[in-house]
This record gives sequence, C-alpha cells and structure tokens, in this order.
Amino acid sequence: MIILGSTGSIGVNALNIARRFDLHVDVLVAGNSIDLLNEQIAEFQPSYVAIANKEMVHKVNHNHVYAQEEGILEVIGLSQSDLVVNSLVGFAGLKPTIEAIRLGKRVALANKESLVVGGKFINMDKITPIDSEHFGLWYLLGGRSIDKMIITASGGSFRDTPLEVLQHATVEEALNHPNWSMGRKITIDSATMTNKLFELLEAKWLFDIERLDAIIETKSIIHAMIDFKDGSTTAHIANADMKLPIAYAILGRVEEQILPSVDLLEVGSLAFRKIESSRYPIWEIKEDILKNPHRGVVINAANEVAIEQFFEGEIGFMDISKQSIKAYQKFENINPQSLEEIYEIDSEVRSFTKS
Ligand code: NDP
Repeated sequence: MIILGSTGSIGVNALNIARRFDLHVDVLVAGNSIDLLNEQIAEFQPSYVAIANKEMVHKVNHNHVYAQEEGILEVIGLSQSDLVVNSLVGFAGLKPTIEAIRLGKRVALANKESLVVGGKFINMDKITPIDSEHFGLWYLLGGRSIDKMIITASGGSFRDTPLEVLQHATVEEALNHPNWSMGRKITIDSATMTNKLFELLEAKWLFDIERLDAIIETKSIIHAMIDFKDGSTTAHIANADMKLPIAYAILGRVEEQILPSVDLLEVGSLAFRKIESSRYPIWEIKEDILKNPHRGVVINAANEVAIEQFFEGEIGFMDISKQSIKAYQKFENINPQSLEEIYEIDSEVRSFTKS
C-alpha cells in the first residue's frame, strides 16, 4: 500500500497494522519528521518516498525521494499499489485523494478534510473511511430502514472547563485531550467541536442520509448509533483505538482480535451530554451546513487559518470558531461546480480570514 502521512498519528498506526499482517508498504510520504521517516524506510523498504520540503531531500535515506505536492502526486502514480492510506492533515490531502481515485486506486481515508471540502466531486465507491464514528456506523448497517444516524463526541480538551476562561486558554491546554492523543490540528478541532461538524459532513457524503446528529459521550466507548425506523437503536461499542478502523479499511475483513473487548462492568456507567453552542459556537451552523454541505470548503479554509493564528498567539481560543462563522456568513452564496472552483474558494477564504 501507499501511506501518505506515515509519520503522523494515523500513519504510525497504519504501519502497525502493516507490520502485524506482514503487508508490503510501497510508498511512504511524510512532512518534516525525517528521522522517523528514515526509521520507517529502513524497516519497510518502500519503492518510493515523498516529503514536504525539497531542501530536506538529501537527509532522506532513499534513492527515489520526491518532494512537495507534485512529488506526492507523482509517487501515487508511480506505485503499482492499488490502495492509498491518506492520513495527511488538512486541505493538502484533497489532491492526493482525487489523484488516487483518478488512477483507479482505493482510498482508505483518514483525511476527512477531503470529503468536507470536495465531497461533491469524490466517488464514494472508492472511499473507505478511517474514522471510528464512520466505521461504527458502517458496522451497524444491517439492511434495515434507518431513521437517524448519531455519532458521538468526547467533548474535547475543554468539555469541563468554565466557559469564562475558554477565550484565554493556552495552546498547551487546548492540546491536552482528555481521552486520547492525536495530531495537533484534529486535537484543536476536537476542542472546538469543528471535528464533529466535519464528521457529520463526512457521514452525509458517505451514507447519503438526511437525519444526522452528534452527542457527547464522555468515555468514548460508544462511537456511533443508529435509530432504525422500527424504534430500535443499536450502538457500536469498542475501546477507543484507531487500529480497529484502520485494520478494516486496509484489510476489508478482520478475523483476528485487534483490540481487547470492552468490559462494561469496568466501565460502570456512561454519561451523555448535549453539544451546546455556548461552549462550541461552531455548532450554531450545524443544521445549515448539513443542508448545504458544499459550503464545507469555507469552514475548512477559515478553520485552518484560524488554528494557525491560535498557534501563533494572534487570536484567542474562542476566536477560532468565530473566524469560521464569519467566513461562513461572508461566503454565503458559493456553489462550486468543479474542483477548480473549490481551490479558488479555498484561497479566497484563506485571504479573507488572514486579513
Ligand atoms: P498528524 O499531524 O499526526 O499527522 C499528519 C501527517 O501528515 C504527518 O505524517 C505529517 O508529516 C504529514 N504531513 C503534513 N503536511 C504534509 C505535507 N505538506 N506533505 C507531506 N506530508 C505532510 O495528524 P493525524 O494523524 O492525527 O491526522 C491525520 C488525518 O486523519 C487528519 O485529517 C485527521 O482529521 C484524521 N483523523 C485522525 C484521527 C486520529 O486519531 N489522529 C482520527 C480520525 C481521523 P510530519 O509529521 O513528518 O511533518
């Protein structure tokens, strides 16, 4: 397989699955973590490698190293492998997803931003999501008539923090997730609840379903629920570990134990909470964006810029969502008809949010 983002949180877990099932890794793509990449090259002996920066190519211990966006697209084409694990972060993941599909490859997609911004132009038949909520929903499907799909949220780093101190929360506090460790951007998205908004959009594209919602489940044991038309509700319960959805996305069928089962007696009790706009202002636009999922490109671009501004200390924590909502209102009438228009809108929104 081809692994894009091999040095990240999902990429490392995908390599754990490759190691365990003795799968050939033909391409490794990474950003700036060259030491880790070199360790991965030594172990997995890929045919091709690509990295983010040209200047660092000489540090990579491999004879076929490509660089930048064009380099990533090139190695996807050079490889004979028909499976791409896309665990790049942000908008940078979109073109590789499109290119992999254009080449007839299957995409195990962790890069949810691909669907958030370009879902309208992506062939879902080629996508298997690597997201515990969507894996949970898929696991629950049983051919029965569905009334509603519900995914769960952990509530993020600030779910119990007094509202009045949120604006002045530090980057370090925002990156301190209560239930697990992930990449920096998704940890912030989790704290603002933008991640859950993105997952609802992802579910909308993947399952083409009208009624969708999310609630907080603080222990992150339940990942998804389906209300069926007959009045039954089923829930997908599993320990929170990305190896399970990754194993399914890569292998298709899994007969061995990937995770220990959940011991409900040990869990003891579960608590559910409503997602409140006072704590998670982005939730104000949930209903509207679910009716207009093509507007995801606006939220994504504004959010990526705002997160960088937050990391740089230019804005406060609550301003991240404010920036996204401001852009969402400003670019109210967009209706992209092609991927080219998606790229244009993305760049306009970025300029607007930066200014
Ligand atoms: P990380 O930040 O941990 O990893 C991102 C990976 O992408 C790293 O390997 C990084 O390289 C690489 N990368 C970043 N920019 C570039 C670039 N320009 N060119 C080449 N490589 C680049 O993120 P996560 O693994 O947490 O998340 C990845 C995706 O998966 C996101 O879309 C996220 O929303 C999604 N996801 C993550 C989950 C999780 O549990 N972490 C759960 C579900 C979905 P380097 O580190 O070397 O700079």
